[in-house]
Amino acid sequence: MMPILDQIHRPLRDLRISVIDRCNHRCPYCMPSEKFHHAYQFLEKEQWLSFEEIERLARIFVALGVKKLRLTGGEPLLRPRIDELIRALSTINGAEDLALTTNGSLLTEWAPRLKAAGLRRLTVSLDSLDPAVFKQLSGDRGKVEDVLAGIQAAEQAGFQSIKINAVIHRGINDHTLLDLVRHFRGTVHVLRFIEYMDVGNQNHWDYKYVVPSSEIIRMIEAEYPLRRLEGTEGGETSERYAFTDGQGEIGFVSSVSQAFCGTCSRLRLSADGKMYTCLFAASGTDLREHVRQGASDTFLEHLISVAWMRREDRYSELRSQIRQSNPKFSKVEMYHIGG
Ligand code: SAM
Ligand code: SF4
Ligand code: SF4
Repeated sequence: MMPILDQIHRPLRDLRISVIDRCNHRCPYCMPSEKFHHAYQFLEKEQWLSFEEIERLARIFVALGVKKLRLTGGEPLLRPRIDELIRALSTINGAEDLALTTNGSLLTEWAPRLKAAGLRRLTVSLDSLDPAVFKQLSGDRGKVEDVLAGIQAAEQAGFQSIKINAVIHRGINDHTLLDLVRHFRGTVHVLRFIEYMDVGNQNHWDYKYVVPSSEIIRMIEAEYPLRRLEGTEGGETSERYAFTDGQGEIGFVSSVSQAFCGTCSRLRLSADGKMYTCLFAASGTDLREHVRQGASDTFLEHLISVAWMRREDRYSELRSQIRQSNPKFSKVEMYHIGG
């Protein structure tokens, strides 16, 4: 089947499904604790898409050309019985990949069940190995040893190459990034450094906190020479490099310094069933409302295709223009659509 194309000829290939808006961490760059305190009104459970609703929508997305499904959150391992959803999604013909992004703190108990349910790949977020820095970047909620134990449990459960995502913030964890490199070099896991982005409106983002990938690469190369690898898959966001001494691979997601909107093939579904065509979208299309009012598959396919075909988003390429002309531009929050 021909993929559906948006206004700048990008095919719809990836779907990120947020299964919950709650999280057990309070990373200051995503859910700062002063905003997300005990009285914060998260979605009620009835507002979450049910597993049946998610599976039905996922089948429709796959019929429209989606090849990769990724579960995210909030923290997806907080969604009760997440393994049952994974089991259902793993049976969808045409979904070539099924992955999950987690902060790793509950992975020790979950890893075997995730693997048994049919999850193919895992991404674990880990911003620093320094316990104090990690504590600060998890909003005083997480422990680095739990995440490392979770990664080990995932290896033992049979996840072969795990992606480790680290968001780097100048003056906060940039002095610890080489420790991460040393730790994951020589393993089968792929560490990826991600530039801090101005997602949402809550995280007080400023360009001065962004450490461009080029600078991180220079820091790494001073110790470990790297060689650029060609041939990232379509829609893949990370630039891949290999250590020239054969000690594995490392990646860089340069969403701020080198926007990759031109190849962005991602759609996002929030836990309450809103579909967003960009990480920086101001609003989404409410699919849950239609699902609960008895919409047919044909109608939902039409709604999704029209939203994709009208898509013109390329926020990252236009970031400075948009921020200058409309500094109060309201965007969806990261914890709502899961990155
Ligand atoms: N809770 C899970 C986790 O942390 O892996 C899944 C959801 S989290 C929103 C997904 C990813 O988004 C994490 O790797 C996180 O570091 C990243 N993220 C959150 N806010 C970000 C920001 N402002 N800039 C760049 N990455 C961000
Ligand atoms: Fe939670 Fe992930 Fe956001 Fe951190 S980045 S607050 S772990 S959803
Ligand atoms: Fe895709 Fe929007 Fe990010 Fe550009 S800014 S890469 S269109 S999600």
